Amino acid sequence: MEKTIILKGRLIDGNGGKPVEESAVIIEGNRIKTICKSHECPDIPGAVIYESENGSILPGLIDSHVHLSWCGAKAIEWITATPQMAMAQALKDLESVRRSGYTAVRDMGSDAIFFKEPADKGLIDIPRIFGAGKILTQIGGHGDAYQKLTLEAAVNTYSPAVIVNGVDEVRRACRINARNGADFIKIMTTGGVFSLGDTAAPHSHFSRDEIRAAVEEAENMGTYVAAHAQANRGIHTALENGVKSIEHGFYLDEECVELMVKNGCYLVPTLSIMHTSKTYFEHKEGVLEYLKDKTNAAYEAHYKSLELARNAGVKIAMGCDFLSDAEFGCSYDKSTMEFERMKYAGFTPLEIITMATKRGAELMLASDRLGTVEEGKLADLIYVEGDPSEDILLMTDQRNVRVVIQDGRIVKDETK
Ligand SMILES: [Zn+2]
Repeated sequence: MEKTIILKGRLIDGNGGKPVEESAVIIEGNRIKTICKSHECPDIPGAVIYESENGSILPGLIDSHVHLSWCGAKAIEWITATPQMAMAQALKDLESVRRSGYTAVRDMGSDAIFFKEPADKGLIDIPRIFGAGKILTQIGGHGDAYQKLTLEAAVNTYSPAVIVNGVDEVRRACRINARNGADFIKIMTTGGVFSLGDTAAPHSHFSRDEIRAAVEEAENMGTYVAAHAQANRGIHTALENGVKSIEHGFYLDEECVELMVKNGCYLVPTLSIMHTSKTYFEHKEGVLEYLKDKTNAAYEAHYKSLELARNAGVKIAMGCDFLSDAEFGCSYDKSTMEFERMKYAGFTPLEIITMATKRGAELMLASDRLGTVEEGKLADLIYVEGDPSEDILLMTDQRNVRVVIQDGRIVKDETK
């Protein structure tokens, strides 16, 4: 029988309320059995107890926007990496994020969904994965990564995205994803910041009918559609046709945020990838001026959009959008940069913790069992040295995350 685990310290439960000092959380099996005051905690023979003068108990963190197994930021690396290389990179990245306290990730398009079966069978020990499978992109869209090739060659070249055109192809791609075990559908409704001329206000990818078809297929799978959406028009089209999460959201306006609140649509801003891009371009020789200008313009707009969303009461979750690229500054050992970026954007520590826990669980359709510290929920918890409700930057140094517990198992213990 597995040993009972007891965490004693300041409880920050993920719901956003005031921390409760001198708490105890008792874990039995893979569940949180009891939450009480530490002086009321019963003596349980043989229990593993974690206790520290300034220790904090938090839910396991959830990164709501990752791309595992991409092996780098450049498309050439996706086709030159062997499947074994991509797999090894993803496993290393998963290990790395778990050391920082992440017990679950929402993968925004890759083959990471195929890790779920070996994880369930106990062949590998990794954070929980909620994955999109292949991203859907239109011809010439953000996921059509090989536009120097003929379309025929591009369609037949390995990529994290599938190029689809028309309602029937959209439905087919969604059903293939469902067959492969995808947990939700991701579509690209705008271009990206690095492609010339497609992040300005008028740009939008996929027709209303195509988006609606994806939404219907996702609903038939019991899930929802997330949209990579940066330019204003593509955000509008996504929102008007049933998309439930806007990823990036550089150019929001009042109408967008109103619709988001009305539809219960989430925003995952991914500030870290923009910050690393901007920093990289500033220090790299020979970067084209338009690329710098566009990155800087989107960078400013991004924070304004986030403020608009915050003021309107849009639900916001946290994701780094990294790509396993150390040279670019976006390797997964730095994925907690998003805590620092959210602080810079003006959010309070408790708001940031809720984004990194409870909101992530909602986007994983798992808020009944994950995301907050509550009796009966699955025991995904972290024990942090210090008080992140006072100083959120503690979360950016993985040495402060002393203990990580996932599904009732101790997967990191640096208290000794
Ligand atoms: Zn992304």
